[in-house]
Amino acid sequence: MKKNVEVLIKEFREYVAQMKYYQEVSSLIGWDLRTGAPKKGIDNRTKVLSMIAGKSFEIETSDKMGEYINSLEDGEGVDAVTNACVKECKRNYEKNKKIPKDRFKEYIRLSSKSESVWEEAKHKNDFQMFKPYLEKVLEFQKEFIDYRGYEGNKYNTILDDYEIGMTVDKVDELFGELKKNLVPLVKDIKESGYEPKKFFDNEFDVKKQKEFCKYILKEIKYDFEAGRLDESVHPFTIGMNPGDVRVTTRFSPENFEGALFGTIHEGGHALYEQNVSAELVGTPLCSGTSSGIHESQSRFWENIIGRSKVFWSRYFKELTEYFPDQAKGYNLDDFYKGINKVNPSFIRVEADECTYNLHIMLRYELEKKLINNEIEVKDLPHIWNDKMEEYLGIRPKDDTEGVLQDVHWSGGMFGYFPTYALGNLYSAQIYNTILKEIPDFNDLVAKGSFDKIVEYLKDNIYRHGKLLKPNEIIKNISGEELSGKYLADYLQQKYKDIYNI
Ligand code: ZN
Repeated sequence: MKKNVEVLIKEFREYVAQMKYYQEVSSLIGWDLRTGAPKKGIDNRTKVLSMIAGKSFEIETSDKMGEYINSLEDGEGVDAVTNACVKECKRNYEKNKKIPKDRFKEYIRLSSKSESVWEEAKHKNDFQMFKPYLEKVLEFQKEFIDYRGYEGNKYNTILDDYEIGMTVDKVDELFGELKKNLVPLVKDIKESGYEPKKFFDNEFDVKKQKEFCKYILKEIKYDFEAGRLDESVHPFTIGMNPGDVRVTTRFSPENFEGALFGTIHEGGHALYEQNVSAELVGTPLCSGTSSGIHESQSRFWENIIGRSKVFWSRYFKELTEYFPDQAKGYNLDDFYKGINKVNPSFIRVEADECTYNLHIMLRYELEKKLINNEIEVKDLPHIWNDKMEEYLGIRPKDDTEGVLQDVHWSGGMFGYFPTYALGNLYSAQIYNTILKEIPDFNDLVAKGSFDKIVEYLKDNIYRHGKLLKPNEIIKNISGEELSGKYLADYLQQKYKDIYNI
């Protein structure tokens, strides 16, 4: 006799909850390993972690999961949340089932080796050393795409892993428009000859930096009862469940700017995770919907709010009270221009708001060509350098500050880079709508009153978790598809004003 659908749903929900619990434990161990776990325990802890991660993978790819998907997907009497859960499980199930297990295992072994070779190659500025590994990682990527299938462009398959529904055609259109605007803008900025002076080119007491960062996090409504701020080498946010979303940052006397804006950036990611609806807890929908939408929130808080003059009209005075010596000779206007200084530079993670997107476009274009056999790994260094010259007007002196700088490719993370720039595009489009929906937006920011803004983001983005797809979110908010126009306009307006061009 066929099982009653209600019983089946109940069993399925318990089954996926179990998978989420394993994932929560993995995340917690991951957080611990990156925030100061005792060195001597690491070996054993890594074994625990791989056992736990294996458990959740087993559930994800089990025959039982396959049966649940078959019986429940779009079935009669299946509620919307459960159905979305089934579809999310199906996405992972199919992806993992199509790749032969032995090939996947070999790939995992290769990618961890490749990451450590990359690290050494970067340190020694030796692309040749890394080249054979990158070639193999790339071959695996192409092989996996063939197993999984693709529509249109091969790159669509891996793009969709991080930004569901996104395609090469759409990204080409978006980035094309942005590039058309940004390349001349960056050139005009350079030629203006104006160099804002930087408040942060100084040393700052680390203890006071921490206090100030914590204060700002509280101000933007990060909930310290559902999270904490710690230190790590690379800042990150990790959400176990909405009641436990932790952020980290890195403090040093010389880099208060990195710590402060890094904290606000991670705070944006964390606000998203802390505000996912309680009804999604224990399901695979209980997280941000895509890398791009996630990044739109970190960038919204870091750049659109955090690097705005109106935000600092509220907090600059307090900052100067924390750091009176460093503040001598600065007014709000100097400070604002300093935190928005545009400086075409080689390293993506240090890039300013304006040039950052060009770093991403360069990587996207190279990835797309690699996946489609239009260029070879051996050609990467010089193509990279040529493109840097074309987009940013500068040429790396070596591969360490060129093609070897990012970890992503060594671990097979192709398809991820575009989401950073997509995040910026989403954030500008969301901002454009918010200004209409909350007409007193600037007054609220100037008062440090963020409740209404967080409520808006919660209603339209955060609470939905993965229940809505990226395209649905941006359409619900702005009434249209993602467009290149809003970011281009926002950057033009902001930087023409700062640089008086
Ligand atoms: Zn981020």
